[in-house]
Amino acid sequence: MTLAGADTRERTASDYQETQETDMPPLPKKKHSKKRKGGRSAHHFLTPMSVTTCPQCRSARLPHRVCPTCGYYNGREVIPTDSVA
Ligand SMILES: [Zn+2]
Repeated sequence: MTLAGADTRERTASDYQETQETDMPPLPKKKHSKKRKGGRSAHHFLTPMSVTTCPQCRSARLPHRVCPTCGYYNGREVIPTDSVA
């Protein structure tokens, strides 16, 4: 089989159907229903932040974080008070 003789045959419509020469990206085959979209977006909600009070200074702080007001965590001063705003 030689390359020169390979392309001498006249092309038919079935030749183009097999190769599917197109620039289209992959697209969804079917429309997704309202139920499918709604069921997915049922998880797309925000949850309120949980805020606890600092046992040292009684101000609001995030749990498992050093208190931004007094710099205390777990009963000891982690950040010196003068460096805390
Ligand atoms: Zn505090």
